[in-house]
Amino acid sequence: MTVCNDCELPIERVKKDNTEDSVVCNPCRHLRNEDLDISIRPLSWKDLELVLAWRSNPEIYQHFRLQEGPLNWSEHVKWYESRDSDRHDFIIRYLNRRVGGVSIDSTDEIGIYLGDFSAHGHGVATTALKWACARFSDRTPLLAEIHEKNEASQRLFERCGFKKTSENDSWLKYSYDS
Ligand SMILES: [Zn+2]
Repeated sequence: MTVCNDCELPIERVKKDNTEDSVVCNPCRHLRNEDLDISIRPLSWKDLELVLAWRSNPEIYQHFRLQEGPLNWSEHVKWYESRDSDRHDFIIRYLNRRVGGVSIDSTDEIGIYLGDFSAHGHGVATTALKWACARFSDRTPLLAEIHEKNEASQRLFERCGFKKTSENDSWLKYSYDS
């Protein structure tokens, strides 16, 4: 099986050309052609300490539905090792450094955050979320749940084509269909 050199997900139709010796999927190829210097890589062991630090910042985890306090290391490692096979976590790199994460879980819910606040305001999250929508277009409708007070995230998902489907409680449901 051929996998993409960037996101490491399987590639169905491999298009090799002579100008490039690496094989990347179409969404990753598109990402490389963006004006912004952004790339997406699968989360690996060597990212776990940084992700733990990001996700233990209350400014970050206040937006997470399933997390109410800082993470601890052993739970974090257990989470990493016990992820479902159809869950995928990626690290977003901007200007050659790690700035955040984007993921899809087994219920087709998309999550995204920037742990490095200096990356805000450059279109990084928008570009990464659009990449995720393209990469997982075979799993639509893609879903998201965003807190009613998190207006920045609501604008981000709406900008990328997500539509609000329910607002019955403080967590708004969003859906994306390609
Ligand atoms: Zn790829």
